[in-house]
Amino acid sequence: MFDLLLKGGHVIDPANGIDGRMDVGIAGGRITALDTGIPAEQGKKVARVDGLYVTPGLIDIHAHAYGGYQGWLFPDTHTFPSGVTTLVDTGGAGWKKFDHFRETIMAEAKTRVLAFVNIVGAGMEGAVEQDVSEMDPVPCAKAIEKHTDVVIGSKTAHFGGPGWEAVDGAVQAARQSGTIAMIDFAPKPTRSYRELLLEKMSPGDIHTHLYAQHIPLLDDDLKVNDYVLEARRRGIVFDLGHGAGSFWFRIAVPAFEQGFLPDTISTDMHRFSANVPFAMMPQTMSKCLNMGMPLYDVIRRSTVAPAQTIRRPELGTLSVGAEADVAVLEMQHGDFGFVDSGHARMKGNRRLSCALTVRAGQVVWDLNGLTWPDWHTAGKYIVIP
Ligand SMILES: [Zn+2]
Repeated sequence: MFDLLLKGGHVIDPANGIDGRMDVGIAGGRITALDTGIPAEQGKKVARVDGLYVTPGLIDIHAHAYGGYQGWLFPDTHTFPSGVTTLVDTGGAGWKKFDHFRETIMAEAKTRVLAFVNIVGAGMEGAVEQDVSEMDPVPCAKAIEKHTDVVIGSKTAHFGGPGWEAVDGAVQAARQSGTIAMIDFAPKPTRSYRELLLEKMSPGDIHTHLYAQHIPLLDDDLKVNDYVLEARRRGIVFDLGHGAGSFWFRIAVPAFEQGFLPDTISTDMHRFSANVPFAMMPQTMSKCLNMGMPLYDVIRRSTVAPAQTIRRPELGTLSVGAEADVAVLEMQHGDFGFVDSGHARMKGNRRLSCALTVRAGQVVWDLNGLTWPDWHTAGKYIVIP
């Protein structure tokens, strides 16, 4: 018997190369069957998901769930309605406050919250992010090693100084702890994007915000720069990281046309990106879809690809035995518009939205009540489990 049976949906699970109609059986918080034609009688609870896409729970590897400056948001209220079951906080806490972050947010959220530790000891707290004396890789690496079960690596962001202290510190902390660094970078005359990609970063390190207006991804003829292509060949990971200011159609569309796609789709979710430009995962994925990325690939870059990037290969899949994190997505067809960080619009004809989210086997979002009985057949109900 299954605690929950998702029946009749179109499963897209790129980790297993699955793209077709299948049923998903969940028991004890895990995926216990992925097969065609599982009888409905085997489900204690059965949700008909015909016409919907069933995918692994989405993994957002750039979001903000802690810290003062960026306007962080508590995860569950925006993750589950977006199909996100794993969220990676990117540098909200440095080593000085990581324990507090862990106790107050990670422990309280139902979303699986992982993190990059900020190279700034005080974390993402405003002016202190510019203080190079705060950028000590030794305690940062120690914090990474202490919290290795929830930490992915190190992060640098928002540094406006002329030097390399922030990048060097984050990269050193990652190397010392055997992890990876995520880099948010704004080039200066004293430090170029080319140097960052080819001289500072190593394979597996992530550059986030690749379609930001301050990133020289394209040359004057709108061609992707050769050194960017070289960096990708060397294994540098390029993350979308939408945010309020870091996703521009006039950069992304030419890059897409040249086949320079984001390795991972992420939102940079925070208080100032949530409503305008509405950088939620399904909306950000829809932008990629309408710029020409096939749906299977959109799902891949939102599930198994981020799982591999953050070195959590057990996530981002519907494999039997995996923790049951599932998103059920609806594809809407019509005349839609999508807004970028410059508040310009791109028209599109397909939009993904999230109908149902399961986290560790528990239904945590169910827009249409697919997993509940109709009230008039429910008998004398109190609260249906
Ligand atoms: Zn961010």
